[in-house]
Amino acid sequence: MEPGFTPWVVLEYSTIIKEVGKENLILTSLPEGTTEADIPQELIDLGIQWTTDECISIAESRQSLCLLDPAASQDLTPSDSEKFEYFVFGGILGDHPPRDRTGELRKKYGLEGRRLGELQMTTDTAVRSTQLIIQNQIKFEDITFIDYPEIRFNRYEATEMPFRYVMDKTGKPILPDGMIALIKKDTEQSLDDLL
Ligand code: SAM
Repeated sequence: MEPGFTPWVVLEYSTIIKEVGKENLILTSLPEGTTEADIPQELIDLGIQWTTDECISIAESRQSLCLLDPAASQDLTPSDSEKFEYFVFGGILGDHPPRDRTGELRKKYGLEGRRLGELQMTTDTAVRSTQLIIQNQIKFEDITFIDYPEIRFNRYEATEMPFRYVMDKTGKPILPDGMIALIKKDTEQSLDDLL
């Protein structure tokens, strides 16, 4: 996980805990010397599990870990639920264009990788898609996504998000609660910085 809990990360991880359950998410590789005081209160209140150990020390065997890797040659399929016990996501914020920072995990641990299609997802979208495929046994191609949605704040202001999202029943991208307000704030901040 990259250091620091930005507001964006806190919203994403809060959403992930709520969707997968606190017993099913472990933040690993936090910097040596991390204490509970370094973890945001919102995440503690949700029962986050965290460790400074590396992901490979959690599993009994390396083979039971699957790295969700945008550069993998095979897409994740429902049958991978029989093969893997743990799914490893890079605790890395999206960047556009992607810089293959997941590659650091690939090189360091040599884990078997699976892709979730060719477009970059936010981390909570990658976890949500993995849950749909592994737990709900839905094929990747049967999930409805929205690519690069425009997030409109009002009549005059909108921004395009350069990621793929799962579509909800009303045709909108699924984003963590509070994310639209945060994106608006960040967009205003970057406009202010330009002035
Ligand atoms: N920009 C980062 C990079 O260059 O690797 C990707 C960051 S992405 C926001 C965070 C994590 O979500 C990745 O490390 C990966 O585990 C997962 N992820 C996102 N999109 C994915 C995809 N299309 N296939 C597989 N995993 C994906």
